Amino acid sequence: MKVIFPGSFDPITKGHMDIIERASKVFGEVIVLIMDNPSKEYTFSKEMRLAMIETCIQNLPNVTSDSSTGLTIDYAKKHHIQGLIRGIREVMDYEYEMQQATINMLLDPQIETFFLLSRPEYSFLSSSATKIVAKNKGDITRFVPKCISDVIKSYYQ
Ligand code: ADP
Repeated sequence: MKVIFPGSFDPITKGHMDIIERASKVFGEVIVLIMDNPSKEYTFSKEMRLAMIETCIQNLPNVTSDSSTGLTIDYAKKHHIQGLIRGIREVMDYEYEMQQATINMLLDPQIETFFLLSRPEYSFLSSSATKIVAKNKGDITRFVPKCISDVIKSYYQ
């Protein structure tokens, strides 16, 4: 099955990567999809976020990346994608994700949402926490893949 993993990835973290790697073992093809929401402000440009994702997935043969705007479900329909992956860290994620998944189910019942639980070591991890640490010159090596940590550090220099 071909699935998408939609999100902001501002920036991609080890928590996202763990979900991507695990999904790539279960599903035939995974597309990491930057969904740009015009009412949201991002720290990194779409091009930078996409480049960071591409660096991180280069050794995963069945994983690709893309970006889109509008409704995630419309992207899925247009590209004949049957499933959507989301990660869940804690109860707050669950409440939000359940609402989104139910809306998507109403919009198109053919597209399934699959939830993967965060590994305990990443359940604290978010893009925003990573940015706060990076901005204050803290150590982000436990938060983001090694290959992109310099890009993030230099952004805040
Ligand atoms: P969005 O703005 O769509 O929530 P994010 O990039 O913050 O975009 O998250 C994309 C997806 O990755 C969401 O399903 C989120 O729950 C999941 N995710 C984020 N961080 C982690 C983590 N540390 N462990 C597991 N899943 C995560």
